[in-house]
Amino acid sequence: MPFQPLRRCTYPGCRNKVQFGRCDEHKPKDNRLPASQRGYDSRWTKYRAQYLKAHPLCVMCLVKGKYTPATVIDHIKPIENGQADPLFWAADNHQALCRDCHSYKTRVIDQRGFGAKKRNETY
Ligand SMILES: [Zn+2]
Ligand SMILES: [Zn+2]
Repeated sequence: MPFQPLRRCTYPGCRNKVQFGRCDEHKPKDNRLPASQRGYDSRWTKYRAQYLKAHPLCVMCLVKGKYTPATVIDHIKPIENGQADPLFWAADNHQALCRDCHSYKTRVIDQRGFGAKKRNETY
C-alpha cells in the first residue's frame, strides 16, 4: 500500500492536515458535489414537472418521427457546478428527453465536448 503523506491545508494559515487541497473547513464552495447534491433539489423537481407538462415529448425522438413521453430535462450544454452554473436555469439550455435519448446523449454526444460544432454527416 502506498503511503500518502498528509499535507497542510492550502488555506493560508490553516494547520489542518489533508491528503490534498483544503481541509473540510476550507474546501472551496464550488467544489464538485455528489450527483444528489449537484442542484437537483426540490426546486428543480418542481421546475421539471412544469417543464415536462409544457414539453411532454422527447425532442430527440420527435425529430425521428417518434412520439415518446419525455421524462427528463436535459441540459443541452452540460453543466459543471449544479445550480451555481449559469446554464443550470437557462431555459434555452433545456430540452425534454426520454430516458433512452438522455443516456444516449450524455454517453455519446456530450463526450465529444460541446465546443465541437454539430455536423450533419449525411449531407
Ligand atoms: Zn483548512
Ligand atoms: Zn427519446
